[in-house]
Amino acid sequence: MCKAPAFVFAHFAKIGSRTLTDNTGSHYRHTKIIATLGPSTQSDPCLEKLIHRGVDVFRLNMAHGSGSWASDIIRRIRQVSDSVGRQVAVMMDVKGPEIRTGPLDEPIELIAGSRIHLKTAPVAVAAGPPDVVTHPAVASVSVNYRELAGDVGVGATILVDSGLLRLKVLEKDSEGILCEVLTPGMLGSRRHINLPGVHVNLPAVTDKDKEDLRAGVEAGIDFVALSFARSAADVQTLRSFLAQLGSTARIVAKIEEQTGVRQMTEIIREADALMVARGDLGIEIDYHELPLIQTQLVRECQAEGKPVIIATHLLESMIQSPMPTRAEISDVSTAVREQADAVMLSGETTTGAYPLESVQVLKSIIGSIEPSVSLALNSRIILHEPKAKMLRSAAVLAQELGQSGIIVFTRSGFLPYVLAALRPRGVPIYAFTDVEDTFRQLLLPWGVEPFLMEFSEDPEQTILDAIDYLRRRKWAAPGTWLVAITNVLANDTVIDSLQLRQVKSTHVQPVL
Ligand code: PEP
Repeated sequence: MCKAPAFVFAHFAKIGSRTLTDNTGSHYRHTKIIATLGPSTQSDPCLEKLIHRGVDVFRLNMAHGSGSWASDIIRRIRQVSDSVGRQVAVMMDVKGPEIRTGPLDEPIELIAGSRIHLKTAPVAVAAGPPDVVTHPAVASVSVNYRELAGDVGVGATILVDSGLLRLKVLEKDSEGILCEVLTPGMLGSRRHINLPGVHVNLPAVTDKDKEDLRAGVEAGIDFVALSFARSAADVQTLRSFLAQLGSTARIVAKIEEQTGVRQMTEIIREADALMVARGDLGIEIDYHELPLIQTQLVRECQAEGKPVIIATHLLESMIQSPMPTRAEISDVSTAVREQADAVMLSGETTTGAYPLESVQVLKSIIGSIEPSVSLALNSRIILHEPKAKMLRSAAVLAQELGQSGIIVFTRSGFLPYVLAALRPRGVPIYAFTDVEDTFRQLLLPWGVEPFLMEFSEDPEQTILDAIDYLRRRKWAAPGTWLVAITNVLANDTVIDSLQLRQVKSTHVQPVL
């Protein structure tokens, strides 16, 4: 469980009345870390340790949580972040159109060859625990999807609990479907059901999602992960709902079934980021094609300039073990080599016995592998806007200079997101913003180190403040070249500029 952190690298600084917060001190890395919160990690001391360890984004999995749970934990995340002086972003992962079995007081043992009745009509509870009716020799459990019997044919396979249990449809009746158990095991409460290849007729954003989102937006979520994204329209539906709530949270579309894979290009264009949700995806498609689909999704996101997250089973064995398997080390390395924006922990940090160690293992693998990744910039991305094209020149220049960084000033986050998509390996992207929402949304993209800072009326003063801060906090040592993307005033006209600055040993003191 959560033990004392090995070291502390949180930062918090005030310059006069200005407050700047930064992310990871000298522990810069390109690949970001997302940790899902759960019983193992949701206490304040644990949150603090995970932040110290270097988590960039906390994920709240609403398949297992309520709106009030989310409100409480977000409030505590912000409090803990403020007290340690290092901010993290919060991603609410809505449950989405997910099919589950109903609650059970006790797990049911399903024996190979035995039968189970999946009840889609309201279950009339006779004797026994709620939602379970025991017919002679046939176990019965409710399912939250009324149209199940219409969507699956006799002979189809139904996968339960990440595919651990396999059922074959034998017949349909007025109350649901009767199945034969193909792969035996214990059926626990509220287990997830997959219907590979079936277009599930549930809304993209369910009533529960809306209720959770109201609570999340109120508490200040930065990202919403849309489960089972199947089309660009699904993303639009979520975006309109967020707009109604007045939220600017960025949308991460989760690709986890076959329609989502087929529609990947449209979904990526509409969303702000993508998650390769390998847990469900690995069940919904042929498992041996998963690495190919992962690579395809990563490349497509890089072509569209959108962040991509590799999720699930990265360090699954660390739920019980303090060390990962060799295969898991290779899997994480692949994500880093493919230059995914972020790697995500689920069970490792929700119920696992070694959440801090899991974060440390990710950091160590990232630290070893990143320096070996090609220096080539992302050649897939097509840049349209002149200002975006200027960023490619900035990235080339910074890499050419060596011992360098890029500083960029932003309100919307657009420029740092494009810079990240260019993947200037070896060059930190220091993004300064005066918008708090943008600041936290910049914690996800590859290689971006965000700073929250008030901007001066005078663009030159803003640059001097930023460089001075980087020097004093030892982000950039004297002699470091900084390629600055900023506005300058020329005869009252604001023009875009790309400038070359060098950090001096004592920089010109900013006027405060
Ligand atoms: C996944 O399926 O990999 C995933 C991240 O989604 P969830 O944890 O909601 O099943």
